[in-house]
This record gives sequence, structure tokens and C-alpha cells, in this order.
Amino acid sequence: MRKGMSFVLPGNLVTPVATLPMTLDSATLSVAFVLLAMVLGGLLVFAWALNQKVRALAWWGAAFCLIASGIAVVNLGKASVSYTALLAGNSLALLSYAALFAGCRLFNGRATPIALVGAGVAIWCVAFPFIYDKPGYRLVLIALAAGAYALLSAWELWRHARQPLASQRVAIVLLVLLAVLNIARAGLGVTLTSIAWIDALASRWSTEMALFLVVFTPTLAFIFLSMAKESVEFGYKQAAFIDPLTGIPNRRAFMQHATRLIRSTKGKTVSCLVFDLDNFKRINDGYGHDVGDNVLILFGDILERHLPKQSFGRLGGEEFAAILPVSMQEATGKAEAVRRAFSKASKDMIGAEVTVSVGCSASKSAAVETLLQEADLALYRAKDHGRNVVVSA
Ligand code: GH3
Ligand code: MG
Ligand code: MG
Repeated sequence: MRKGMSFVLPGNLVTPVATLPMTLDSATLSVAFVLLAMVLGGLLVFAWALNQKVRALAWWGAAFCLIASGIAVVNLGKASVSYTALLAGNSLALLSYAALFAGCRLFNGRATPIALVGAGVAIWCVAFPFIYDKPGYRLVLIALAAGAYALLSAWELWRHARQPLASQRVAIVLLVLLAVLNIARAGLGVTLTSIAWIDALASRWSTEMALFLVVFTPTLAFIFLSMAKESVEFGYKQAAFIDPLTGIPNRRAFMQHATRLIRSTKGKTVSCLVFDLDNFKRINDGYGHDVGDNVLILFGDILERHLPKQSFGRLGGEEFAAILPVSMQEATGKAEAVRRAFSKASKDMIGAEVTVSVGCSASKSAAVETLLQEADLALYRAKDHGRNVVVSA
């Protein structure tokens, strides 16, 4: 609305409205940021309390509260900041970055050595008495330490991701952005650019920085929450599709994969193998159930080593299956390799040879249930033939 325009109110009351150019008020933005970061930190800790499985949320919540406190200590007081406020406020800020990093490591199931958490703040406290009156040096040190923690956090999420989570990739981008911003600030501590809005980042605190953080902080908090949610969902999915003893796909996962494979290879030969460990009851009776379990785990490992990922699974008990988009001959060749490797590895493991019988079927159009039935019939024949053999349907 232009200056001088007026509203006509009911009853013919005329009120002139003079508009001001919009200005972002630094103090208001700072207060908004501090409150926002505190609330977000509290919400992350609350989310952790609800589902304590994702402990990283507590660290990230602490990081948000620490940065809010740090910025409050340094920027919500008088214009000239005291020695103690500068020392304490920046220490809190660096602890916040360290907590962010520790949270990222914990998210990946890795502990963070206390020395790494305290390194930034320790360097700051040692250096501070010497650079207290040199704002440029202070900026370089703080921004470099913060940038390093942000970069390490991004690296951690990228390099050591335990699960392929979409939100984790977004978090990496955000953390790299945070690192770049800090490293750019460190550069400004050495030399300014004479471009006002860029140089504003070199000051202890500015409207530009507050505005950036008001947008950035909720985004990061949202992404951390999404990561936690995605990771819990991923865990449930894993549990539904992975056999808990051997860690290989279970019957449900195998059937799903097999159905998909048959659909995608329409008209081409698909072979199915059914494996059944021989006289397994005797292994349990003779060596104990725990040894039996270890032998099952060993067999799962051997399948993993010999067959493509996801192409096999544990049907139940001591029965396993595999499905391969290859000819019967090629499939029996693979089964032979598994049979030989298992009898050798089991002997190395428990001192007695445990063997496996295999039935093989193949078809260009049959459903997975039919393939399994035919392979099962071949397996019966293998058992009749004295076990420890591969028999084709
Ligand atoms: P065959 O050569 O005819 O297959 O003889 P078998 O003894 O292997 O066959 P059977 O079906 O009689 O016995 C299977 C055994 O597998 C019985 C069961 O106790 C054992 N078993 C099934 N699941 C597990 C498991 O998770 N752990 C252990 N240790 N044993 C299991
Ligand atoms: Mg059996
Ligand atoms: Mg058996």
C-alpha cells in the first residue's frame, strides 16, 4: 500500500494509513530464533522420550537447546559483551555442534569418544584469553571449529549410513550447507569482501544470520525427526522380511522376490532350488540346539557367498530355497557348489560333516508355488538316494 492511501471505515470514518518500508528487526529475529530453537530442542527431546529407540534425537534436541542458550548469552544482552559471556556463549555454541555430531554418530550406532565432543570447546577455552580482544581471530576459530563439526556430521551420515534413508540424504545436504556457511564466515574473519550482506556474516550476530537460522533450524529439526521415523519404519520392515536367526531373507521375502522375478523374466527359464539339511535332528540331539543354530547360520552364510543377493531365503526350520533366472544345468551347478562348501565348512566348525540335500526344478512359465512343489519332489528323491546330493525334477 502506498503512502497516503486511506481506508474508508464503516460510518464514513476516514483513517489515514502511513506505511513504512519493511525492515527486519534484528532484536525481534534474535528473540524469535532463540525461542524457536529452544522449542524445537524440547520437541526433539520429547520425540526421543516417546520412542527411546532413536537415542540420537536426545543429542540433537540438546544441540538445539545449547545453540539457543549460546546465542541468547552472547546476543540478547548488552551491545558490548562481557568477557565471561563471550567465553560461555561460544562454548555453548561449540558444545551444540559437538552434540549434533555425536547425535549423527549415535544414529549410525557409533559412540563418540568424549575427547571428540570436548575438543572444540577445549581449544576455544585455551585460545580465548589470547584472542579475547581480536574479533577476527575469534571468528576464525569459532567458525572453523563449528564448520569442522558440521562437515564431520555430514561425513558421518554419508559414509556410515546403516540404512538407505531418503531423509538422511537431505540431512547431509543441510549439514554441508551449514559447514560451508561456517567456513565462509571463517574466511571473512581473515578478509572482508566489501559486499554488505556477505560481510554481515562476519559480525558476531546480524539480521542476515538470524534470518538464515530462523529458516534453517526448523528445517534441520524436521529432517532429524523424519530420519528417526524412517529408521524405525525401516527396522520394522527388516523384521518382517529377515529371518532373525540367520539374517537372510525369510519365507515372505523369498516368495515376494520369486514372484517378482518370474513376472519380470516372462518366457525365460527360471530355476528353483530347495535345500534341506540332512539328519539335522541328530545334530541337535548330539551337539545341542545352540550348535544346531550355529550350523543354520553357517548355511545362511554359505548361501550368501554363493548366490546373488535376495535370490534365496529360509523357508523355515532347516529348509532353504533359492530362485535363479538361469537354466536347470546352471542352477544345479550352483547347488553343487553350495553342497560341497557346506560339508567342508560344517566339518571345520563342529568337527563333523553336516550335509545338505537339494531338489531342483525349472520352468518358463510356472508360478513359484509350482516350482517349489516340483523342487520338493526332487528333494524327496535326493533323501531316498542317500542324501548329500543334488537331484533335478
Ligand atoms: P532329513 O535328513 O530327513 O531332513 O532329517 P532331519 O532330521 O533333518 O529332518 P526333520 O524334519 O525330522 O528334523 C528337522 C529338525 O530341524 C528338527 C528341528 O528340531 C530342527 N530345527 C528346526 N528349526 C530349527 C532351529 O531354528 N534351530 C535348531 N537348532 N534346530 C531346528
Ligand atoms: Mg526338513
Ligand atoms: Mg532335514
